[in-house]
Amino acid sequence: MHDAVSHIRSEKLTNILSVQSAALKAIHDYMYDHDVVQAMPIILSPETDPLNHPHFDASVVYYGQKLHMTKSMILHKQLSLLNDGVDKIYFMSPNVRLEEGHLKESGRHLFEFTQVDIELKNKTKKDFVKFVDGLIVYVFRFVKRECSDELKALNRVLAAPKLPLRIYESEDLKTKYGENFESIVSEKAKDPFWIMNFKREFYDREDKKRRGYYHNYDMLWPEGYGEALSGGEREWEHEEIVRKMNERKTDLSRYDMYLKVSSQGLIPKTVGGGLGIERMVRFLTGQKHIRDVTLFPRVPGEKIVF
Ligand code: AMP
Ligand code: MG
Repeated sequence: MHDAVSHIRSEKLTNILSVQSAALKAIHDYMYDHDVVQAMPIILSPETDPLNHPHFDASVVYYGQKLHMTKSMILHKQLSLLNDGVDKIYFMSPNVRLEEGHLKESGRHLFEFTQVDIELKNKTKKDFVKFVDGLIVYVFRFVKRECSDELKALNRVLAAPKLPLRIYESEDLKTKYGENFESIVSEKAKDPFWIMNFKREFYDREDKKRRGYYHNYDMLWPEGYGEALSGGEREWEHEEIVRKMNERKTDLSRYDMYLKVSSQGLIPKTVGGGLGIERMVRFLTGQKHIRDVTLFPRVPGEKIVF
């Protein structure tokens, strides 16, 4: 309790919150300038992202209906683009992911966090990468300009990255560095960078002619800070979605409404991704653990004070 109060009262947190505030303003300005519509997030729904890693269930029963806490808004992002007048959308989306306790050592996991979750209609991964490259440089420049005193107090020197950010293929990195390639390349890197092609959830598009190649990506922070964003081009064909759900042994009944929409051929062709806000602030302010950048830390396995 004493530690939690000192944390809230610390000057370090004052500086970190100023940096976060500037970064959030820069994100919203960039979105507005690029005609990306902001919509309000939801936090309870019958169907949510399955996630492809172990975690605990977070759901409630309300009037007899089971509602899951949002793990990501991927399915809702796709559905929102059913509106013919909306081509680009984003949400400041609170996610509840009851991660396993061992992840507290990673320094970058919380069990509640926020991502800026973006989806663009009729665009490709190349378009998305370019869009996010621009966003990152915009945020860096704005934060550097507005928060020079705070960054100095935090001992953090930030250099706006050169564009385009480098793009790697996961297979090449695996061959060169082994399974732990993400951490190794992140340690070595001076600027954020992209890695293409990961086997993940059913909704990321797999190449039909080249099975096992996924048109998706991660963006990583340099200096060992690791993953910043995940996303990809999405599946839109019902048969592919069902095939991939079955391949992942997904219980199809959990995606009843989504599958009804896809069976009518309505899922739009989209690309997108989610950038973790707390991880971004951790990087911008040069903090070791993500707990240090959150007012009310939700670290996996740790007891919550406030
Ligand atoms: P995902 O699509 O699952 O990779 O989530 C999108 C982004 O949210 C990631 O790239 C991270 O920046 C962030 N994120 C995911 N899980 C967590 C977590 N447990 N704690 C903090 N940030 C997270
Ligand atoms: Mg990810």
